[in-house]
This record gives sequence, structure tokens and C-alpha cells, in this order.
Amino acid sequence: MLQLKHIFKSYKVGDNITHALDDVTISFRDQEFVAILGPSGSGKTTMLNVIGGLDRYDKGDLIINGKSTKNFKETDWDAYRNNSVGFIFQNYNLIPHLSIIANVELGMNLSGVGKKERHEKAIAALTEVGLKEHINKRPNQLSGGQMQRVAIARAIANDPDILLCDEPTGALDTETSVQIMELIKKLSKDRLIIMVTHNPELAEKYATRIVNFQDGKIQHDSESFKPEDEK
Ligand code: ADP
Ligand code: ADP
Repeated sequence: MLQLKHIFKSYKVGDNITHALDDVTISFRDQEFVAILGPSGSGKTTMLNVIGGLDRYDKGDLIINGKSTKNFKETDWDAYRNNSVGFIFQNYNLIPHLSIIANVELGMNLSGVGKKERHEKAIAALTEVGLKEHINKRPNQLSGGQMQRVAIARAIANDPDILLCDEPTGALDTETSVQIMELIKKLSKDRLIIMVTHNPELAEKYATRIVNFQDGKIQHDSESFKPEDEK
């Protein structure tokens, strides 16, 4: 289980302070498919980045499987990010001059997994997303939907418990978006999926829970689930 407890995060640019996360408390189960909706600038990406250890919270606590991260050192964050979390972005973030298989292997470079095992895991993940035939191609030889599948393979290759998706279908047409959502839904059987989206229809159709953000706060949560210590 993943818990955010009274998380605050602000950004200071010049004299301007933005409260990107303003007292966010929420718990996620090990296996659910959560969609995060809300206007641009409401804090969705910041929450994803804090949960994934890409960005540090200022105040509060992020509790991972019962363990507080208050005293985490950078090495603890690195280990968590490399072994427990996968990320998918709107623009795939693939490396253009590397082959598909190399892109997926690269995602595991910092995880401590050996070279041979990285290769095997990459093949398995690319097979799971339906791209076994394309592993030696380069990203620009693939369609947008296929590139997002590569990014998904990279994100799941090391079998993370948490998959964080920031607008995964933002650059795709409707039909391809549906295919990607079907794939992500399939992956949610084994892990926690948290997906930021601007598309309420896709959220309604695929997510098991919808959380709405507004001005750095949770405005609505479709779930009434709250652990004892969150009440
Ligand atoms: P959303 O994902 O809902 O669009 P973000 O989490 O990206 O919202 O941003 C929340 C607020 O924090 C916005 O006002 C944004 O401009 C600000 N913000 C986000 N990241 C930074 C940053 N690195 N530096 C300064 N301000 C930032
Ligand atoms: P989204 O709306 O999809 O969350 P944005 O385009 O708002 O994405 O932000 C993209 C990246 O830029 C994020 O990583 C965010 O942290 C950063 N960012 C957002 N707002 C600002 C800002 N005002 N100053 C600096 N960086 C920002």
C-alpha cells in the first residue's frame, strides 16, 4: 500500500511561490487503476513525480509498504525508483538512435539486474506488449501507438509494483488510445497504476477509481476507502 499523508510541495520562481501540492492525503491499494483528473496546473504531475521519487515533497510523509520515507537518503530514493516504479510519459521518451530492445534494456541499467537477465526481461516485456517482431527497429520506424508500447515495455520490464502514467494517450488518436488503455488495464491486475489524464471518458471506462485535483488539493475521490489512520 502507498500512502500520502499531508503532503505539501511548493515551487519558488523569483518572488512567486506556487503551492503545487497543498495538504494531500490519500491511500492507494496494491492493485488498482486510479485515474487523476483536473485542470492544467492543479498538481497532477507533481503528485506523480513525488510518488515516483522523481521529486521530493517539502512536508508530510510518503509511506511505502508501511515504511516512512521521511529519513530516506538519495540512495534510498534511487533504489526505490529503479526497482519499484515504472514511468510512462505522453511523448514516450525513447532514445532515437537506440534499437527498441536497447531502449528497454537501458531502463534496467541502474536496477542492479545483470546484462543477460536484462536482455531476457526486455524480450519478455516486448513480447507482452506485442512487439516481439520489432525489437531491432528504431523508434522512428514505429507508429505512435507502437512507440508507447515500447515505453510501456521499458516501464514494466523490471516488474515494478507501481506504474505511473502521465497522459499516456495524450499524443495518440482515439482508436490507438483505446488499445493502449486496454494494455494498461491488463497490467493493472498485477500492480498499482496511477494515470494522469485529460480524458474523462477514458478514465470512466478503464479506471477503477477517479481522483479529481484542483489547486493542489484533492477535490473529489470516487473511493470511500480510507485506512484507520487516515481518518
Ligand atoms: P498539472 O500536472 O496538474 O498540470 P503540475 O503538477 O505540472 O500540474 O503543476 C502544478 C503547479 O506547479 C503549476 O502551477 C506549475 O506551473 C507549478 N510547477 C510545476 N513544476 C514546477 C517547477 N519545476 N518549477 C516551478 N513551478 C512548477
Ligand atoms: P503537465 O501539464 O502535463 O503536467 P507541464 O507542461 O505543465 O505538464 O509541465 C511539464 C514539466 O515542466 C513538468 O515536469 C513540470 O515540473 C515542469 N514545469 C511546469 N510548470 C513549470 C514552471 N512554472 N516552471 C518550471 N517548470 C515547470
